[in-house]
Amino acid sequence: MLTCPVCHGRTTGKIGPEQYFCWNCLIEFDDQQRAYQVDEDGNLVQYWQEQMMGGGDNDEKTE
Ligand SMILES: [Zn+2]
Repeated sequence: MLTCPVCHGRTTGKIGPEQYFCWNCLIEFDDQQRAYQVDEDGNLVQYWQEQMMGGGDNDEKTE
């Protein structure tokens, strides 16, 4: 089982031949460790590296 490229967790599931899903981040990723989010139209959009590296500096309220 691959670990998530974003949170490095193991709460991942296989959803296709080279497609995986992280239940923690709710993102999809592939064998190349590229992560994608599903937007409101159902399209896959790249989950940007800067978000992945953003740890702790987030202005958004999480409560
Ligand atoms: Zn994750």
